[in-house]
Amino acid sequence: MARDVDALIAQLTLDEKATLTAGVDFWTLAAVERVGIPPIRVTDGPNGARGSALFGLGGETAVCIPCGSALGATWDPELVERIGAMLGEEALTKACRVLLAPTVNLHRSPIAGRNFECYSEDPLLSGKTAAAFVRGVQSQGVVTTVKHFAGNDAEFERHTINSVIDARALRELYLVPFELAVREGGALGVMTAYNRLNGPHCSEHAELITQILRGEWGFEGFVLTDWLSAGTTTGGSSAGLDLEMPGPARFYGAVLAAAVRAGEVEESTVDAQVAHLLRVFDRVGGLDDPPDWASTSVDRPEHRTLAREAATSAMVLLKNDGVLPFDASALRSVAVLGPNAERPQMMGGGSAKLAPHYRISPLEALRARLGDAVDVRYARGVDIDRTAAPIDAEFSVEFFTGFEWSGAPAATRTFPDGQLLLIDTPPPGIEIDNFSYRAVGRYTPDESGLHTFSLIQIGGRARVLVDGRVVLDGIAEPPGPGTEFFGMGSAELEQTVELDAGTSVELVVEFAERDGFFMRGIKLGHRRPMPLDLLDRAIAVARDADAVVVVVGTNDDWESEGHDRETMDLPGKQDELVARALAANPNTVVVVNTGAPVTMPWADDSGAVLQSWFGGQEMANALAEVLVGDAEPAGRLPTTFPVRLEHNPSFGNFPGENGEVRYGEGVLMGYRWYEARQLPTRFPFGHGLSYSSFALGTPVVTSADDGTVTVTLSVTNTGARRGAEVVQCYVAPPQPSRVVRPPQELKAFAKVWLDPGTQATATLTLDERAFAYWDPVEPGWRVDPGAYELHVGRSSADIAHVVSVER
Ligand code: BGC
Repeated sequence: MARDVDALIAQLTLDEKATLTAGVDFWTLAAVERVGIPPIRVTDGPNGARGSALFGLGGETAVCIPCGSALGATWDPELVERIGAMLGEEALTKACRVLLAPTVNLHRSPIAGRNFECYSEDPLLSGKTAAAFVRGVQSQGVVTTVKHFAGNDAEFERHTINSVIDARALRELYLVPFELAVREGGALGVMTAYNRLNGPHCSEHAELITQILRGEWGFEGFVLTDWLSAGTTTGGSSAGLDLEMPGPARFYGAVLAAAVRAGEVEESTVDAQVAHLLRVFDRVGGLDDPPDWASTSVDRPEHRTLAREAATSAMVLLKNDGVLPFDASALRSVAVLGPNAERPQMMGGGSAKLAPHYRISPLEALRARLGDAVDVRYARGVDIDRTAAPIDAEFSVEFFTGFEWSGAPAATRTFPDGQLLLIDTPPPGIEIDNFSYRAVGRYTPDESGLHTFSLIQIGGRARVLVDGRVVLDGIAEPPGPGTEFFGMGSAELEQTVELDAGTSVELVVEFAERDGFFMRGIKLGHRRPMPLDLLDRAIAVARDADAVVVVVGTNDDWESEGHDRETMDLPGKQDELVARALAANPNTVVVVNTGAPVTMPWADDSGAVLQSWFGGQEMANALAEVLVGDAEPAGRLPTTFPVRLEHNPSFGNFPGENGEVRYGEGVLMGYRWYEARQLPTRFPFGHGLSYSSFALGTPVVTSADDGTVTVTLSVTNTGARRGAEVVQCYVAPPQPSRVVRPPQELKAFAKVWLDPGTQATATLTLDERAFAYWDPVEPGWRVDPGAYELHVGRSSADIAHVVSVER
């Protein structure tokens, strides 16, 4: 029921209004029971509505959709809108009215840690995808917060770094996805970035928030900080920042009320902040939510189906010399190799990580699809753990008051694996800053040899005992700082222990809290023995099989919020594994399970390469379908795969130095750069093969009085299978130009699904902005008169037709 928000605000005292401008805990906003304002809850994020279970801890499960770069690879806003609606439904099952998504920063460098969360290197593809996502989520009465506004295109020193971006690059590239999410998607929330942008912190950036977002784009929703990034009271409120998260408040809330009383902030400013928030919550129905609304986990069959459709639609067939699809009926044996075949990576790391409703590996999915008639043999070949994965053992944990593991346990809890962390909320009976715990579990190895145990501690100190013997001691010798857990975890301690297959050992972890903040506990990691002939064994399996599937990739430790990658190479000896598998058996498919580009030195020698991204909970089933041809790999690259990292435009200006990252390449980012510099790429932007083939007819161009140009052309499926084609239209400016302009820029696209032999018309619409650049001298969009070329094709490097239009 719609409320009169102005009248509601008029009933509130200054203190009540001020409490509404900050969270009360990590995921909850303040309530004012007296006037019926319930506590609004928020949840991350782009991979699915995970509820409060950070890092998948806490027992709540959620649907896990393909990661951002995978959604970008669908080139399919209609599909993304349906996925958004699904996440809106999921957010409501978590009793949340706000989904902290989408992430629309750009793939400036291939090794930026959060690329997997972001859609593309191209602003238009990112913005169209984001707008569709926003429309979908918000259709369910759930608010989106487009993030991170702006210039948060890497993780290095993310809380302090100053992104130095010139006006043209900012307007023509980095702001565009936000603009489209607001203007075309109707986003009701925007989250500011941690970093500084050309000086000011983004949470205090009046030009960004008040002038551009509200003034130019007409944004009517609320603006919130990224977590723990509020820095001042008056700076934030005068810049237009509405909400400080998380709580308890440090700069808003009671401090903001005091600032009003001290005459430093106008009460009308606080009124405006509260109005932004309450109008949005009123609009989506949130003000009628029950205060005790409970979170649930609901695994719906139609959500599984949609997650699978998204995963196949995102898969990019990078190369195929007739190897795919496999003829399943002709196969007798298949070798499955690679670490990610057994431990698939369905999502990236950090705040986006969640506990999926279920897990299935490519190995299991292939076995299920191929049935008993096909002998599927597995060999991992290499290990790729960056830090050791949490040990696969259940732990019973007893919590004690005080730091000495003494007295009767005040609480108990079980944990499913070696991630023994308390996040924010302690079990009842325990004080968060005065406890210790003892965790006991058993581990039964399935391989004999030297097993490695590892310890990362956070917010306290711990030791690990194996069969009663202390093997890791972070109490006696505390390790220094590390990079895990958003950089709040310690460095990793490691120790090897000889174990026998089948003989279980007792594991005990003793942890004592010490000056913790937010996260407290440990990760007990484990690495399997690494026999010297691990790789040889895999190649022996590959040699004799009818077909080989090598699943290589990264994991949520290599690709995570909190740090960037150091190289673009596949971790471990995976390149060697692939090269040797290709040499041993030509009928080999390489599946790349990453959220971002990797170097592929073996690409020219391979018969088939399939990019599966971090494909969500249905990735493995989708992969099995695509490999045997039950489904079309319908994705196209949303980002260039360079030959080598050194070719990337950010090279030399990444990750930054002396507190600053200069976007020195300006507007020549992504494919704009490789094309301008005439650099070869491994796979170009927009590239992806189909199992069918398509013909693009001659484009017909019409211009309307308002400056809109419409391009129509026929698309014909000339192959023997149903498939998808993505028609891409790039605009090339007249030359010479008075400013540096990229050789061509994506300005429209259309995805068309066709049965064999059928035809459809693709319609591509270009508005005035499609021809414009940002003029920093007389700030505004400017279209220089002249002859522009429209490049219509299947990728940035595969242009079928060039048509000229005058402006
Ligand atoms: C991330 C945000 C996220 C927030 C809440 C931050 O560390 O940068 O994207 O929404 O945490 O989990």
